[in-house]
Amino acid sequence: MDQPTTLLDGIEIPDFGERRYPYAVIEVTRHCNLRCTTCFFFQAFQHEEKNLSDDALLAKLGKLARRHGIRFMSWVGGEPLLRRRVIEKGVRLFEQNVLFTNGTLPLPDLPIAIGVSLDGPPEINDAIRGAGVYEKVRFTLTTAPRPVFIQSVVTTRNVSVLDRFTADLTALPNVLGVIYSIYVPQKDDTSGLAFTLPQRDQVIQTLLGLKEQHGGFILNEHRALELALSPTCRQVTDQCDMRENSLALDYRLRRRRPCCYGEQVDCDLCAAPTPFSMAARAMARPYGPRGDVALAEAIAGTRSASPAQAAACGVDPPPPARSPQNSS
Ligand code: SF4
Ligand code: SF4
Repeated sequence: MDQPTTLLDGIEIPDFGERRYPYAVIEVTRHCNLRCTTCFFFQAFQHEEKNLSDDALLAKLGKLARRHGIRFMSWVGGEPLLRRRVIEKGVRLFEQNVLFTNGTLPLPDLPIAIGVSLDGPPEINDAIRGAGVYEKVRFTLTTAPRPVFIQSVVTTRNVSVLDRFTADLTALPNVLGVIYSIYVPQKDDTSGLAFTLPQRDQVIQTLLGLKEQHGGFILNEHRALELALSPTCRQVTDQCDMRENSLALDYRLRRRRPCCYGEQVDCDLCAAPTPFSMAARAMARPYGPRGDVALAEAIAGTRSASPAQAAACGVDPPPPARSPQNSS
């Protein structure tokens, strides 16, 4: 049990002991300029708690980076770019950073990976994210200072149009590729967005087919997708490295367990890209890197896809978090 030990801005900040966490996720804020129908943040955030100030949050993140050896940071929300100063200063604290944004605010010109969320072609995306959001994102991409990747959660709503959606994405400006993340349900999930395992196997076959068709534009790793098929998925999720080696923090620096998807997540139905990527790489080199190093290599893999990526992109997307899977 993490013990509260520090008062910061009048907020109790837990202590996470001495162990090392190569990988962390920070929910920069729960505020957002969108109101996606699939996002529960606004219901959950009605009794809003105070955010840490920018300076307090940055100071504490710096301490955590040093104490726990955090090398990779994922910046999620809410909409993290509503706290732009935190992002601009905070990314200097870590070797590698990935920012997930809803793409409706101007993107920062930073040497980090940026994932922009789209949920499907305009009619599907905007039914979930709000009228005109797809077009806003397209405009953001047109003016992006560096190339980005698209982060898209595959659900029962968009699975039938992935072919057309992927083709559309290849035509968008400043897009390096897309990572598809199959919706990870909570244990009591009644959203109607989740797949059964047999359905999910079909989704994975669809993604493998898209990868054949579009090659490196589909950023999901081939072996990681294969491992997520039902005969092998539990071997990965039962030993998921994220439980022990990632530090997932909410906007008041409270730890989320087992990972950024929160305590109600159904690990048995998780096919998030990162644990499967890490497992695929660890299996490929059993005497080599552990998961954390495998993640570093995943990052390098993203970088090597093209010179533009090398210049612009530092990180393989981490698991989009619950709400974070829709957030931002
Ligand atoms: S939800 Fe997925 S990533 Fe998170 S701990 Fe469970 S298996 Fe790992
Ligand atoms: S899913 Fe993301 S972009 Fe949509 S309302 Fe929630 S936090 Fe905002």
